Amino acid sequence: MAALIEISGLSKAFGGLRAVDGFSASIGRGEVVGLVGPNGSGKTTALNLITGNLPADDGIIRFNGRRIEAMPAHRITRAGIARTFQLVRVMPSMTIAENVAVGAIFGAAPCRPAEAMARAVPLLARVGLGARAHQPAASLTYIDQKRLELARALAGRPSLLLLDEWLAGLNPTELDEGIALIRTIARDGITIIMVEHVMDAIRALCGHCIVMNAGRKIAEGTPAEALADPAVVKAYLGD
Ligand code: ADP
Repeated sequence: MAALIEISGLSKAFGGLRAVDGFSASIGRGEVVGLVGPNGSGKTTALNLITGNLPADDGIIRFNGRRIEAMPAHRITRAGIARTFQLVRVMPSMTIAENVAVGAIFGAAPCRPAEAMARAVPLLARVGLGARAHQPAASLTYIDQKRLELARALAGRPSLLLLDEWLAGLNPTELDEGIALIRTIARDGITIIMVEHVMDAIRALCGHCIVMNAGRKIAEGTPAEALADPAVVKAYLGD
């Protein structure tokens, strides 16, 4: 079957630093893919290139058969790619539900504001914020802002969801709940790429794991295979 997203030779430098350096990957529909690697290996930059938050220097990204590497971010969102950020981005003066509704209005299945609010409510329940829909987003803790971001991403009805360390900072109970939640999202048929340092979560959720170091892919396979690769062990020890 054709891949949902195919990345070929993707590159981005900051000055002389090659943050992403000829990165290629092919991800099938319905996969949950872990993107791991030591700090500074280029994972977040790779996500930013996929979503159009940063322009690529070089490379091709085909999503659903369409070239997206030169598209602006809002068109990529419309095409069906949604994300959460490592440093959360919520609109503090809007309510929690309004923040999520924005995701529906600007997402892959755009709708009017009234429908967007109706879409927001069950999604907030799903991420554990159901009782707080009409509170200001500024009232949320960091972890709850991450929950809000996930609901906002889902409100756009994406076919590809990118999670940037969405599980970081959760306590053990929240981590179990977070893993279960991501599993239900995958069961809905949404393809997921997750940048994550919590390796237990990668093992629990991902059928496919890609390891980056110094902007390049150094291993891939099942989490068990990829994480045991000698190049990966060496990259982590050298961190
Ligand atoms: P990771 O997500 O794997 O920790 P990043 O993609 O955040 O890695 O960063 C890869 C490299 O690019 C790092 O050396 C980082 O310092 C650098 N980098 C990332 N963003 C910028 C930027 N906007 N300007 C300059 N350097 C950056």
